[in-house]
Amino acid sequence: MAEFWEWREAPKADFAVVGDPVSHSLSPRMHTAAYDALGLALRYVAVRVPPVEFSDAMDHLGGKGYRGVNVTVPLKREALEWAQSADDISIRAQAANTLNLSDRTAINTDAPGFLDTLSELKLTRKSALILGAGGSARAIVLALAGSGFDVRIWNRTHQRAVELAKEAGAVALEHPAPGDADLVVNCTSVSLAGGGDLPLEWDQVLRDAAAVDLMYAAQPTAFLQSAQRRGLRTVDGRTLLVAQGALSFEWWLGMSAPREAMAAAIE
Ligand code: NDP
Repeated sequence: MAEFWEWREAPKADFAVVGDPVSHSLSPRMHTAAYDALGLALRYVAVRVPPVEFSDAMDHLGGKGYRGVNVTVPLKREALEWAQSADDISIRAQAANTLNLSDRTAINTDAPGFLDTLSELKLTRKSALILGAGGSARAIVLALAGSGFDVRIWNRTHQRAVELAKEAGAVALEHPAPGDADLVVNCTSVSLAGGGDLPLEWDQVLRDAAAVDLMYAAQPTAFLQSAQRRGLRTVDGRTLLVAQGALSFEWWLGMSAPREAMAAAIE
């Protein structure tokens, strides 16, 4: 468990990741490595913020001199509501993951960060099965649909998948059948909650598909273990963590992020 603070006790720092829980986050280690690589005298910490206290916590951190925060589960909708202006993808996804506390602006770097990570996978069919319909699934579905992917969505609460599919021009599934997907993405927080694998029909996933889990943990998640048993290429959440974190860094600081140093710090 990494060091974190309750928001009322947050130390003096420049940036933070806020979430509830937040002790699992690798963001402090990754951003600190970026500052070290560039010789920047900045501090980035993890701060726990319960959802109902989000607005008070942001005012408190802003007053203490924090310049910006990354926002993780389950606070991305609260972040959007707190912001006075937000970029288009945050508004469409109803989720913001990066805030500038001084001017109350918000962006979503999960969506463009996720698209950045796809180039190495060389997907030819552009057919995706998305598991989940929460904040990150919304951002990723909208980004994929906007990039010409056929998208199918399964979610534990089916109605949320139906609503997201309607908005994105995608298809909502009652059961997570993979079809011809060459990309299967776990956007659920099932493993964060200590749960097992999802009810995916792994034996029907085409063997050239890539399986991506947004979660990262010391051991492969149950989802990625199943994907490995099926012989698929697998990508865990650290790839997206670096991509979205680098875009947040660049938005806040206006300079290129040292992606290699950031990735090395969380290996
Ligand atoms: P949300 O809380 O908005 O959504 C959670 C999703 O998980 C919902 O679709 C929910 O379904 C589903 N879910 C929760 N528990 C279970 C379960 N036991 N079984 C099946 N489905 C479940 O979270 P986010 O979308 O913001 O984040 C999702 C995950 O992605 C988190 O683990 C987060 O850490 C990770 N993430 C990682 C990033 C990275 O940089 N690597 C970036 C963004 C997210 P329902 O609608 O039925 O409640």
